[in-house]
Amino acid sequence: MYNEPIFLKPVFKDRIWGGTKLREAFGYEIPTETTGECWGISAHPNGPSEAVNGPLKGKTLDQVWDEHAELFGNQEGDEFPLLVKILDAKTDLSVQVHPNDAYARKVEGEPYGKTECWYIIDCAPGAELVYGHHARSKADFEQMVAENRWDDLLRKVSIKPGDFVYVPNGTIHAIGTGTMILETQQSSDVTYRVYDYDRRDAEGNTRELHIEQSIDVAMIPHEDAKFEPVESVVEGLKETKLIREKYFTVYRWELDGAVEGYENPAYLLVSVLSGEGEVTTQGGTYTIKKGDHFIIPSTVKQFSVNGTVECIVSHPTV
Ligand code: ZN
Repeated sequence: MYNEPIFLKPVFKDRIWGGTKLREAFGYEIPTETTGECWGISAHPNGPSEAVNGPLKGKTLDQVWDEHAELFGNQEGDEFPLLVKILDAKTDLSVQVHPNDAYARKVEGEPYGKTECWYIIDCAPGAELVYGHHARSKADFEQMVAENRWDDLLRKVSIKPGDFVYVPNGTIHAIGTGTMILETQQSSDVTYRVYDYDRRDAEGNTRELHIEQSIDVAMIPHEDAKFEPVESVVEGLKETKLIREKYFTVYRWELDGAVEGYENPAYLLVSVLSGEGEVTTQGGTYTIKKGDHFIIPSTVKQFSVNGTVECIVSHPTV
């Protein structure tokens, strides 16, 4: 029986809007000075992360998913469902929207659309993000886009570190300058760009926009999703269930001390945002620290954690 956590080596992505905070804040060895994304837990073909410990060492997460269904509770599906990233936006990301599963399959031939959510790790005082829009109809939306009336169209929301933002597919969104987030999302890379601030890359090229698809998939008019975080304390662990929705359930763990015999609800995706501690399973005791990403497979029915750590934890909602 496989009874240890699967630690994963992140994959980094250079982005026009990226910076160096993934190195400064998390100590990662980033490949460029414009690194925007750390794919911490990924089985996506565009950047699968690799197991670094135990008998699975050297295998990518998509391989582990294919070869060891028992580690994931024999969950159905050809593809691992979730993707966990940390993003460093040195400058604004493009204003974008993602399709639902049906549209992603039909139009892109991709298995999943993209519903995502963000835990705000850091941002400047008074920071804002784009969340939703003010158009009342598709015609209205189209006209505002055609006339470049971005200030009228885009809805801005204030954020601060520790906030949680839920972004169901169809939500127009963008994070802005100085914002660092942990993103839990469906394992999808399908993005439709609505607006890119007329930016040009080093070669003077603008990035492609996808206005037609954006209008197809955008929720118009915009409506805020309703959800209510739920807090509980067990021994040294304060656990906040940030959201439970169709695709994922996401928690914030603030541990100071120990929690014994934590019941694994299925398999758990864990990213350590600060501090250090230890996870103990039947397989042994494993050090965990800021910047680590790991999976506790469903064959580990119970485990203990001690130390002083903050983690974002998730599992697929089944
Ligand atoms: Zn997005």
